[in-house]
Amino acid sequence: MRLRLFLVLCILAPLVLADGLPDLGESSQTDLSPQMEKKIGESIMRDIRQQEPSYLDDPEIEGYLNRLGHRLAAQSEGASLSFEFFILKDATLNAFAMPGGFIGVHTGLIMAAQSESELASVLAHEISHVTQHHLARSISKQNLSQYAALLAMAVGLLAARHNPDLAQGAIVGGQAAGIQNQLSYSRDFEREADRTGLQVLEKAGFDIRGMAAFFERLQKFGRLYENNAPGYLRTHPLTTERIADMENRIQSRPYHQVADSTDFLLVRAKLLAQEGASQDAVVRFDTQLKERKFTSEAATRYGLAEALLRDGKFAAAEAQVAELHRLKVASPLLETLAADLRAKQDDPAGAVKVLQAAAVRYPQERAIAYALVENLLAEHQADQALKFTQSDLQSYTTDGRMHELQARTYAMLGMRLQQHRAQAEAYALTGQLLAAVEQLQMAQKAPDGDFYEHSQVDARLRELKARQAEQAKEKKQQR
Ligand SMILES: [Zn+2]
Repeated sequence: MRLRLFLVLCILAPLVLADGLPDLGESSQTDLSPQMEKKIGESIMRDIRQQEPSYLDDPEIEGYLNRLGHRLAAQSEGASLSFEFFILKDATLNAFAMPGGFIGVHTGLIMAAQSESELASVLAHEISHVTQHHLARSISKQNLSQYAALLAMAVGLLAARHNPDLAQGAIVGGQAAGIQNQLSYSRDFEREADRTGLQVLEKAGFDIRGMAAFFERLQKFGRLYENNAPGYLRTHPLTTERIADMENRIQSRPYHQVADSTDFLLVRAKLLAQEGASQDAVVRFDTQLKERKFTSEAATRYGLAEALLRDGKFAAAEAQVAELHRLKVASPLLETLAADLRAKQDDPAGAVKVLQAAAVRYPQERAIAYALVENLLAEHQADQALKFTQSDLQSYTTDGRMHELQARTYAMLGMRLQQHRAQAEAYALTGQLLAAVEQLQMAQKAPDGDFYEHSQVDARLRELKARQAEQAKEKKQQR
């Protein structure tokens, strides 16, 4: 844990210095420039993706959360800002906004939400912290030097999810005291995020009563835990006053019930199916189904199918998928499950068929795009896979995973120069510059490729080497 934190410090330090130390004058939202916030956020995000064991690398669930988050963000004042939502596998109830619009949500919070509006209310609150520039505004109030404050905040944010004490312990040199203050927004900021969040929630068409209801339950939950309050309560002081304020605002609004989306129900079922031993998960869903104790038959059957898949009971899982189709359930999650089942039974051609149809129906679903390429490769249809990755990467130029899949495709086709070139982009996009440079050097030595392609490789190598030198220089300055 300590090692990981230290790594974050090392990655961040040159980055913060690179932009120089911005003027830390009066409290205004320009003190911490949006560009710098973005850079810091991206750097922490890369670290989380690569090294954080609790990062949930599930493009389906992440895809759902981003659809929900972007629907809310589109109704916020920060519609021009970019947001990215991600999930940490952690049973505590927490959500947090990092610099640059990166918003993390714990699986515990998703499971604790009893409706989609409740989950949306927390996202709307976090989005509001970002659009109201609360991070930048709280840094301005600190008496720490800008540099120390930024580092403390970045590291603190990452560590505090697991254990708030650790965040303090890991920072040396008298900065510790500032972190806890930075992690907790002031009551004014909380109230502002509640109010703005409520408007966002309403404009996006969710049940605004979800917010007060959820926060009230979080409050109750916090009381049970006393000193060991769930994370969300620690970083967002929740008071009776705040809940009362929300309830007052809600009362004047007309009541309208909002149904949960199928995807929300399926995502929760999928998370539940992953908990504990697979056989136990099967029994849990099976019992619910037999006793007809469920709120959604579709979600329960889907959860059962996921649990059966985990347990290696493919035929039984197929039977549930057939039932779900009979129930006319429409969700990208069902399509990837059906394809996964085909693939697990050595039928990549069947998986490809399912995914090709699904890709037409859900063109923006990344999980479907990844699975399609994987299965085309399993079926040795490298030509088709190449065609797909080429057109896909025109829209998703910064998708490291797709570049990686394209590298595998080129490898299968025996196209060495292009293989290393694609792999270099995959590395560059995940911040692994050294590995990217090495791949391009291999591309230079590749026996294939024409003059034009080789000069493209040379040019890209010069670019990345320049970036590398710049980073080395920054690191030197820092010492
Ligand atoms: Zn808050």
